Amino acid sequence: MKNYIIADEWNIIEEGFDPHLNKISESIFSLGNGHMGQRANFEESYSGETLPGNYVAGVYYPDKTRVGWWKNGYPEYFAKVLNAANWIGIDIAIGEETLDLHTCKVSNFKRVLNMRDGYLERSFTAELKSGKQLQVVAKRFCSIADEEAGAIKYSITPLNFDGEVTFTPYIDGDVSNQDSNYDEKFWDEVAKQGDGNESYLTLRTKKTGFEVCTGSKIDIDSGGFETHRYAADPLIKDKYIGAVYTTPVKQNQTTTIYKYAVNVSSQNYKPEELLAACKNVLGKVSAKGFDTMLNEQAAAWHAKWEESDIVIEGDVKAQQGIRFNIFQLSQTYTGKDARLNIGPKGFTGEKYGGSTYWDTEAYCVPFYLGTAAPEVTRNLLIYRHKQLGKAIENAAKLGFKDGAALYPMVTMNGEECHNEWEITFEEIHRNGAIAYAIFNYIRYTGDQNYLNEYGLEVLIGIARFWKQRVNWSSYKKQYVMLGVTGPNEYENNVNNNWYTSMLATWCMEYAMEAMEHVKQTDVARYNALSKQLNFNEAEETKQWQHIIANMYYGEDKELGIFLQQDNFLDKEIIHVKDLDPADRPLNQKWSWDRILRSCFIKQADVLQGLYFFSDKYDDDTVRRNYNFYEPLTVHESSLSPCIHAILASRLGLEHDAYNFYLRTSRLDLDDYNNDTEDGCHITSMAGTWMSVVEGFAGMHVKGGTLSFRPFLPCQWNVYTFNIRFRGNVIRIKVDSNGGAFTNLSATPVTINVFGNAYTIAPSAVEKVKYPDSKR
Ligand code: BGC
Repeated sequence: MKNYIIADEWNIIEEGFDPHLNKISESIFSLGNGHMGQRANFEESYSGETLPGNYVAGVYYPDKTRVGWWKNGYPEYFAKVLNAANWIGIDIAIGEETLDLHTCKVSNFKRVLNMRDGYLERSFTAELKSGKQLQVVAKRFCSIADEEAGAIKYSITPLNFDGEVTFTPYIDGDVSNQDSNYDEKFWDEVAKQGDGNESYLTLRTKKTGFEVCTGSKIDIDSGGFETHRYAADPLIKDKYIGAVYTTPVKQNQTTTIYKYAVNVSSQNYKPEELLAACKNVLGKVSAKGFDTMLNEQAAAWHAKWEESDIVIEGDVKAQQGIRFNIFQLSQTYTGKDARLNIGPKGFTGEKYGGSTYWDTEAYCVPFYLGTAAPEVTRNLLIYRHKQLGKAIENAAKLGFKDGAALYPMVTMNGEECHNEWEITFEEIHRNGAIAYAIFNYIRYTGDQNYLNEYGLEVLIGIARFWKQRVNWSSYKKQYVMLGVTGPNEYENNVNNNWYTSMLATWCMEYAMEAMEHVKQTDVARYNALSKQLNFNEAEETKQWQHIIANMYYGEDKELGIFLQQDNFLDKEIIHVKDLDPADRPLNQKWSWDRILRSCFIKQADVLQGLYFFSDKYDDDTVRRNYNFYEPLTVHESSLSPCIHAILASRLGLEHDAYNFYLRTSRLDLDDYNNDTEDGCHITSMAGTWMSVVEGFAGMHVKGGTLSFRPFLPCQWNVYTFNIRFRGNVIRIKVDSNGGAFTNLSATPVTINVFGNAYTIAPSAVEKVKYPDSKR
């Protein structure tokens, strides 16, 4: 765990330059705008440890699979979001000396991620080997208002000399992925052109053929002290185009270089139109100028914060933590494009290939439902609908038939690209999360019509898969599900994982409910769909019903718990608190077989099910399972603490809930798991939001109504947030007296607080005190 980020409500601040922390900071200070993003690499060259990262959403490369022992059914490739052309680069030389923070003396270093206005600023004083000192201030952002564009303002002030500075701004496409399986480079050059002032580089990905044109335009402002002359010579290398500017500089006079940059991709334009599109956007943004662009950026971020902020009073670190999580999520996905999704590392690193996991449906969906227009979540669901054909193909490759759909564990385009058998073939609960997200979206938004347009088709494919995945046990006289991996990846190839089996039958039930809805509301659509899917309603639903009625679920009546899987109780039950701290994290210290045999749980498994279907289980059932499983859980997945925070809140375990919250909210800022240098844990950041909203505030949708059971963590004075729900916006403020609910919409809204219904008129506030039992 690290503790170098300075606490501040709106900014992430690092003071002093420690090269050992550089890769961690590059992740934490990352920028993005949904369309593109980048790690916080330096503009000027840096010869120390760095992980260069520039990414364009949806542009990926199918890197040929590399495994020790090939198994039939493995995908041919792992899709990687590519490290794309570096557009931030500006090499700086003072006479013959290169500015490189690894080789010069650095003082007054400060890096600030301004989350309120959406930009990154870095300042420092550098002393070169010659003794020349200069001060640098660099500001940059990826624009939310012009999402294909970014801008940099880079200022240099000589502190003890007059002389000449050479700026070499460039676009460099000769980049690679650190995690490339065969050390290949993934881009080919298509074209480049430049006149020194404007530069364009078009690259094409190998195999997938995506084309990206990156353009940049340079302006130099000498500060008006003296008329400078500078020559701009194009500098051209393989997959690289830059320009060299030399300008005289005087002590204490600031010279500023502005770099406007644009990335357009063939996802949005025909390849032959890319260059013209790039020029057009670049012309538009450079004409606005840096300050106007930055003002628009700030305005766009203020609008985002208006919807999604959580204000915490009395705990600056907690405030910084939650804002950092919301900021990173909002930078990663904006919901405008149903072809895009949310990779576990977003635009902050290469790990996980930038692909889509069940994380989106299980964790990110609640965040976007509560903080953004319903279309944002709808696009996430449509993304999976578009990939239904591929999910059916994925299932067919594994021997399933008749339209059974198995969504991949990891994907970019619908094809599976994960290649560890115990996950690829067995961690099939992801199929259930996709169905659950449809249910959750409709429960939240009331958009039942989604079932008619898209939902039912997906649900039938998923239900068909589960029907074929279970088998009848003549021994048990029940259906069983063998050979699965639950969310707890520290168990593989287990039988009757309670969570997966429960989710499977729920999917069948929900598919039938959806079917009835479509039949009743639009019989023509239903008939057309049945025909298209070759859906034999009578036969198939009979089979589903038989499975629902006869499914086996492991349970221990004496302990009153659901069994994570068969034989779980044969394990030696040891609590995590009794483990030697030197053994943690288990996945870095223990052999795999030892982990598998142990009782230790990576992340919520049975408890994930109790969270998803919390209405079905009473507090006592939740308590017994929580008390049994939580002490065995090592939370070595970033997705784990939030589910526990929510359940602990429900059970009144406020202290536990708060500790889980802290663990999720500052996971990356404090580098809890010693892995932030690979990138931030973007998808689990949604869990941080869930911990506050669904945990501390106890928000929940029941019967089309939003209900709350808030409490105030004792470390905080007040917390406040807005929630969107079915066209209304409600502000929730929780303090030591209870909750105050303000209706910010134009129509009355009914909510439920501690079990009582309140109808709140527009602009009115309903103050609800804690029930006596809570005081
Ligand atoms: C977790 C998975 C998750 C993946 C990506 C793994 O460590 O166990 O549940 O989908 O990370 O976040």
